[in-house]
Amino acid sequence: MLNSTTAQPALAIDASILQTLDIAIDSDEVKPAERYEEPPGAVLVDVELLRPIFAVRVFTMIAVTVPPLALVAVMMLAWGGWFSWVDLTLLGSMYVITALGVTVGYHRLYTHKSFATRGPIAALFAICGSMSAQGPVIWWSAIHRAHHQHSDHEHDPHSPHAGRKPGFIGLLSGFAHAHAGWLFDNVPADFRRYVPDLLADRTTVRINNLFPYIVLFGLLLPGVIGGLITMTWMGALLGFLWGGVVRMFVLHHVTWSINSVCHIWGWREYASGDHSRNNPIFGILAFGEGWHNNHHAFPASARHGLRWWQLDGSWIVIRSLEIVGLAKKVRLPSTDRLAARRV
Ligand SMILES: [Zn+2]
Ligand SMILES: [Zn+2]
Repeated sequence: MLNSTTAQPALAIDASILQTLDIAIDSDEVKPAERYEEPPGAVLVDVELLRPIFAVRVFTMIAVTVPPLALVAVMMLAWGGWFSWVDLTLLGSMYVITALGVTVGYHRLYTHKSFATRGPIAALFAICGSMSAQGPVIWWSAIHRAHHQHSDHEHDPHSPHAGRKPGFIGLLSGFAHAHAGWLFDNVPADFRRYVPDLLADRTTVRINNLFPYIVLFGLLLPGVIGGLITMTWMGALLGFLWGGVVRMFVLHHVTWSINSVCHIWGWREYASGDHSRNNPIFGILAFGEGWHNNHHAFPASARHGLRWWQLDGSWIVIRSLEIVGLAKKVRLPSTDRLAARRV
């Protein structure tokens, strides 16, 4: 257990990580002072609790293998006429909610601190992101900060290039590893090194530890809504399948494609020291995350689609929050920095 005497000093993020992530070391964005002053005895987090390795591996196995089977089931049901606008709406709305939880919440807010917002809104994004079943928020952020620090080099948790074997087989195995294979590699997440700021935030730790229940809630919610709208058990089952399991399947593969596809296929606009690419398909599907070369060049930017035509759904959300006063300290690269990094 961590307590006030054994805990790392607040904000003990390695300077090299801060530099990689482009997070200003002493800015308010990283250091909301009140959040790091926990009373003695009020344990911030039991780090061991964050790595129930076996449970995570079993969970990962289920989350990766069951949704494709569910997809086959819904296709057969749809073939038999069991599909309606209710199911389609539940799929679409749950996709948008959970995807934004990952892109705006997990990624741009928690991992990169590209903007600041009020506690309840931050918590809401973390909860929506958790429903995607991509791992607890602190684990996700630790892995992703490690990805940025070692992007496409030896210690990158999910590079399609690092250690790649030659030829077409090498390309395929690199792709499979970056896409979902790495999830089975038991990649250790160094929490104390990469995410001490998140470990020190009580609400974030709570949401992190409630992860399995939030995933379950995200699966049952569309089922309940589907059942109430249609007032049938079949409606509830279809809502669960389309809004819960199929939605999880689609978003999993869209998100994983950022790690696989967007480090292989697309074009490069900025020097980023890795193989990251801008890919318009995933720019759209992943709400802006597919402008991945832009993101690796300017990791702290709240906006990934840096040109007017690079559609970035997450940026539209952040900018809207800013306009109504709910997002502050929104970070964007200056025109000088943009010009300096252009290739
Ligand atoms: Zn990347
Ligand atoms: Zn990132």
